Amino acid sequence: MPQCLIPGCSNNGEHNLAIRCRRPDTSAIWAPNSEAFLCNQHADQGYRIEINLVPVAARSITTVISAGGIVETRTTAIIHRSVE
Ligand SMILES: [Zn+2]
Repeated sequence: MPQCLIPGCSNNGEHNLAIRCRRPDTSAIWAPNSEAFLCNQHADQGYRIEINLVPVAARSITTVISAGGIVETRTTAIIHRSVE
C-alpha cells in the first residue's frame, strides 16, 4: 500500500488522485491515474488544486503531483481521440 502524499503523514494512501479530460457527452478522452495517494483522513479535508498544462505533443499525459514534499510523477499514453 502506498503512503499518503501529505508531508508528515504515515498513513496508508488508499485513495488515488486522477485527472480527466471529458468530451461534451462526458466520456473521457483521457483519465489517467497518478502515482499520488491520500489516506482517509486527508482525502476529504479539502484542497486548492493548481493545474499547469504544458503541451508536449507526445500523445501522453504526465502527472506531476506534490503536496509540498515528495513529487510523484507518472506518464500514461493517450489511447483515445478527441472525436471517435
Ligand atoms: Zn494522510
